[in-house]
Amino acid sequence: MVSDGEGEAYGHYSNVLRLLREHHSWFNRCIPLIASENVPSPAVREAIASDFANRYAEGWPGERVYAGCVYIDQVELICIELARRVFRAEFADVRPVSGVVANLAVYAAFTEPNDIMLALAIPNGGHISHGKREHSGTAGLVRGLQVETFAFNREEMNIDVDSTIKKVEEMKRDGGKLPRLAMFGASLFLFPHPVRELADYMHANNMTICYDAAHVAGLIAGNEFQDPLREGADIMTMSTHKTLFGPQGGMILSFERHAEGIKKAVFPGNTSSHHLHNVAGKAIALAEMLAFGGEYARQVVRNARALAEALHNLGFDVLGEKHGFTRSHQVAVDISRYGDGGSIERALEKAGIICNRQLLPGDIKAGRNYRHPGGIRLGTAEVTRLGMREQDMVEVARFIRRVVVDGDEASRVAGDVAEFRKGFQRVHYAFDDGIGAYEYISLVGRRK
Ligand SMILES: *Cc1c(COP(=O)(O)O)cnc(C)c1O
Repeated sequence: MVSDGEGEAYGHYSNVLRLLREHHSWFNRCIPLIASENVPSPAVREAIASDFANRYAEGWPGERVYAGCVYIDQVELICIELARRVFRAEFADVRPVSGVVANLAVYAAFTEPNDIMLALAIPNGGHISHGKREHSGTAGLVRGLQVETFAFNREEMNIDVDSTIKKVEEMKRDGGKLPRLAMFGASLFLFPHPVRELADYMHANNMTICYDAAHVAGLIAGNEFQDPLREGADIMTMSTHKTLFGPQGGMILSFERHAEGIKKAVFPGNTSSHHLHNVAGKAIALAEMLAFGGEYARQVVRNARALAEALHNLGFDVLGEKHGFTRSHQVAVDISRYGDGGSIERALEKAGIICNRQLLPGDIKAGRNYRHPGGIRLGTAEVTRLGMREQDMVEVARFIRRVVVDGDEASRVAGDVAEFRKGFQRVHYAFDDGIGAYEYISLVGRRK
């Protein structure tokens, strides 16, 4: 006999399974343009559904704290080797469970509380993990760092080299502390950062240079953006799931001379279990990058440029026009003429176009905020993985225009978007495409 409690529990159980299925089926009908997302191959999905997910390793392969790691160690060594190869790095730590944890490990290894870190301000594209204490940013709140911001040029949509040096020189002249760590990289990231231009100056002033490649790691792997470790960065952190093909996770790449410090900061400093299924998923994703990364990254950037140009031709105010709008997977659009980023994000979602609102440089001064910012950010990593090319970006731009400018009925646009998506059902740039990109794989069997 099933008790009432059990009946209620079963209701929740089957409700969650139903919602998962509905999400998959919805994503099959949408255009996914979130710049920090991608879609994994069937092999990566298999890896993360494996029993590795339920195990503990802790420590380094061969020096584990737990038994049972016979196969886990072999996979992690493959992952480390592939990470070093793909990013041409002497040292790789593939254990951080996310990009934020990778950054935290760098803060722990290379700074002391109260040290100064130079990073981008959030409206200029900085990530909350680089943020100040008063914004609950990870650097300030968790490591107690003082954050000073890079000088930024809005016209160029990039770090201003001369004004940044001037700012540090003024700090020197005032006799205060100098930054200990410089954090390049961003969440709103259109053009390569001036690492080469600033590296000698920073090193001469005893700064360690980290490059946060969370967004652009796949483009770096495919040789399409910049090569931070050759341009003067000492360390590179990243997420493994934005322009890379992995499951959610993080990694740190660096030089042998920093290996011991980083390893300790990752474990035991910032992780205990490091999510071994994701290590297996990262290894497969890196193998896919090795095989297909060049071709993929090229198409991602071409698609971003094509989308930017198409939107510009339709009358949108696309940022970065001076330099051809973008050299990454991202497109930033100032939509303040049509409404605020928050309501436009929701209107697009109703029409099956998934993107996010974006705080743009100058928004705070104009009285806008992150809930109601002046922009939207679009990313082409996932649609490229679904096989879309430049001509498809023109279609995507038209759908966006119908919602934002023409005020077309959301349900009508959603229907046309779903029809359009029928042509893009598989994962490209992968060794296998035996199941649909968002096909729901049930392990509990058929249910009513
Ligand atoms: C997304 C992002 C991160 C955080 O990555 P998670 O994997 O979500 O923790 C860190 N830095 C930058 C610049 C990012 O855009």
